[in-house]
Amino acid sequence: MAEGTPMMQQYHRIKDELPDCILFFRLGDFYEMFNEDARTAARELDLALTTRDRTRPPEEQTPMCGVPYHAYEGYVAKLLSKGYKVAICEQMEDPALAKGLVQRDVLRIITPGTVLEKSMLEERKPNYLAAVYLTEETGVTCFADLSTGEFLAAEFPGAEAPDHLVNELVRYAPSEVLLNDAAAADSAIRELLTKRMKCMCQTADFFGSAESDDFFRQHFGASGTDSAPLRAAAGALLTYLHRTQKTELSYIDTLTKYTAGSYMELDWQTRRNLELTETLRSGEKKGSLLWVLDRTRTSMGGRLLRAWLGKPLLNPASIKGRLNAVAELADDAVARGEVRETLKQVGDMERLISRVVYGSAGARDLNALAASAGTLPELKSLLQPMKSGLLRRIGDMDALEALRGQVTEIIGDDPPVTVREGGMIRRGYSPEVDRLRDLTENARGAVAAIEQKERERTGVKKLKVGYNKVFGYYIEMPRSQSETVPEDYIRKQTLVNGERFVTEELKNLESQLLTARDRLNELEYRIFKDLSDTVAAMAPTVRETAERVAELDALASLAETAVLNGYCLPEVDLSGVIDIRDGRHPVVEQMLTDGVFVANDARLDAGGERALIITGPNMAGKSTYMRQTALIVLMAQIGSFVPARSAHIGIADRIFTRIGASDDLAAGQSTFMVEMMEVADILKNATKSSLIILDEVGRGTSTYDGMSIARAVLEFCADPRKLGARTMFATHYHELTELEQTLPGVKNLNTAVKKRGEEVIFLRRIVPGGADRSYGVEVAKLAGVPEPVIRRARAVLLELEKHAAPIALEASEDAPEPEEGQLSLGSLGAEQAMDRLRDLDINTLTPLEAMNILFELKKLMREE
Ligand code: ADP
Repeated sequence: MAEGTPMMQQYHRIKDELPDCILFFRLGDFYEMFNEDARTAARELDLALTTRDRTRPPEEQTPMCGVPYHAYEGYVAKLLSKGYKVAICEQMEDPALAKGLVQRDVLRIITPGTVLEKSMLEERKPNYLAAVYLTEETGVTCFADLSTGEFLAAEFPGAEAPDHLVNELVRYAPSEVLLNDAAAADSAIRELLTKRMKCMCQTADFFGSAESDDFFRQHFGASGTDSAPLRAAAGALLTYLHRTQKTELSYIDTLTKYTAGSYMELDWQTRRNLELTETLRSGEKKGSLLWVLDRTRTSMGGRLLRAWLGKPLLNPASIKGRLNAVAELADDAVARGEVRETLKQVGDMERLISRVVYGSAGARDLNALAASAGTLPELKSLLQPMKSGLLRRIGDMDALEALRGQVTEIIGDDPPVTVREGGMIRRGYSPEVDRLRDLTENARGAVAAIEQKERERTGVKKLKVGYNKVFGYYIEMPRSQSETVPEDYIRKQTLVNGERFVTEELKNLESQLLTARDRLNELEYRIFKDLSDTVAAMAPTVRETAERVAELDALASLAETAVLNGYCLPEVDLSGVIDIRDGRHPVVEQMLTDGVFVANDARLDAGGERALIITGPNMAGKSTYMRQTALIVLMAQIGSFVPARSAHIGIADRIFTRIGASDDLAAGQSTFMVEMMEVADILKNATKSSLIILDEVGRGTSTYDGMSIARAVLEFCADPRKLGARTMFATHYHELTELEQTLPGVKNLNTAVKKRGEEVIFLRRIVPGGADRSYGVEVAKLAGVPEPVIRRARAVLLELEKHAAPIALEASEDAPEPEEGQLSLGSLGAEQAMDRLRDLDINTLTPLEAMNILFELKKLMREE
């Protein structure tokens, strides 16, 4: 195809406007791509690259490739996942009717944050587009979920704005982010977006532009209370939505603002460490807190519960509101069962109504909405006797009877997917639809009826109605009977044996039949469209009801989990006390395949014993104990029952965790550096009301350095004149246990172990006092380190313990003599091995490290 053809000129005109998109250019039944787009798409989508102008020399040919229009979703999804945007250019008129070049226009630009196609959205996950706006004084984040119409914004004034923005981005996990220049230049934000989050990022220059201000006013009114930065961010998001969606987006009409104090802020590490929605290792939902808690029955409920997990509440009254609702549902098994059974029949009303407003819903979607609405009276009556204020408020929802009434009256039971081919409107609703449908369905019957009538009228039995392509429908009479032809017959054709006529009625029938199908389809579409518009106008009510249903689903899910897993109702207040009796780790107890989970108490008091030092061997359960405490606090603050016999939770404004050697190879930083950055972050941001979990701080450096840092950090956290926050601190530095004596508010705990001969058994019980030793050698043994090495390690350890400081060890007299066939530690390699062993700090060895060292040692032996 020559570059100069009118169509290619049209293509270039459109493409030039969209240099950063792959242009899907509709040509009949295909979306075609040309030139560079074609090369990219062919490569990324595994498509054959062709050309239409084969007769030309290769350098003049236009590369092209295409995808069938009905299968575009899969291809677009793949391109989005590879970081491209796709512009969909449609034919704006029927090519068969177009005079000259078919008019074409870009209807939509699909980007990761603006997809609406069901196949590209995860049912139980929201899909956010974000805008991040940073100035020297303040920062704003804004999030929109086009699939539900949700629109959120929060402003964080002050120098710490970038940190807050990072935490908000992590909280909402957007799939696409727009940034102003300052936000894009900020190192914390850039690091998060480029290294940790998988999302499309772009800087935009329309923050605060006149256009963005207009859009803000158009959607949210001229609210004088919103700050200029907030308007700039929200306006930029709207501008982008308009530029990509090219429709009016009127359903985005509510701006939900929240502030720093609305929810508990959770940083990226804590969210990850606590494995709230996915596991650290595999990133799967299974094994996360959400996996344990989520027994929701609807996609909306699933999305809401996920959101709750990311937004623990801070206000005791709101938390109690949820807890009371969960308690009432937990207590009433029958009502809970019925509520959950009914919820099963509710569709994704939030996304359905958005599709209706957006104009992409079909008759099936309307039916799904109506069917969902059909369950609401039942839900309302189930909630009616409930006492919880929240449940009563939910029960107060609009049951959408008007919507259901209209949709069921108009749309038939099993409409097709398409909206232009009829078959949607219920019989009995529109006499005209019924007539046209009868006509098309009973064309033969109508012809027969006319034939019968004309036979009777003329008394000619041989009269018949026929059809041919040239004349259409006709009445044929035998020639012999031509004198009986009525006056209104119009002669059309004379044959040897007969004559053919038409009548007005027959002509009418013919034109009706020929156009009936078109008319029927058109009329059905019009009725459907009117109905869609009516339903779209109900969107605010539908959305409000949908929100309440989602809330009910999330609450019922929490209640169901509470009952099934034996959780208790926590008491929540601002006392600063955490008092958990027989607490369990909600996930570990579910994952445990052998043995039972050992419950433990935990008590922390901001005004008293606020810092717990936990010592004990590796694998004994220290980190499980600390995480479970954090999780129980977090669960209570989302309004969930908790895995414990009883729990008193003094609300935490934030939870911080620094757990394990989270090696951050992706970020290219040393483990120790990362650890210290995390610690710095905690010490800067924590308050007296925070809960801090620190696991083996200082581990990544040499013993003395590490211990000094650990001690200083612990002192800072525990001391009420400094931070004075509730702190749990697991450490291998037994020396730190002395702090119990010197620092008020510090208490030692350790993980009880039982020694049977040379074996250790972890009892998983947390008991008062410091651990006497680490049992590193025993753990190495448990891990399968061979006996000779274990034996030797014991000897070395014994020797070390005799001397206060590490000393140069000779092969000890005490060491057991090597048995026949065993390694002899006497030669060069052995000496190196000895050196290696000597340098070992067994106290801080993990089993895996022990294994690695063992390999090393073996290698040295082989080098003999
Ligand atoms: P540490 O932090 O002391 O090295 P972890 O907390 O990682 O030890 O615990 C190691 C393993 O022990 C966990 O993966 C879990 O399977 C098991 N465990 C920990 N605590 C308990 C408990 N209270 N009851 C039963 N098993 C536990």
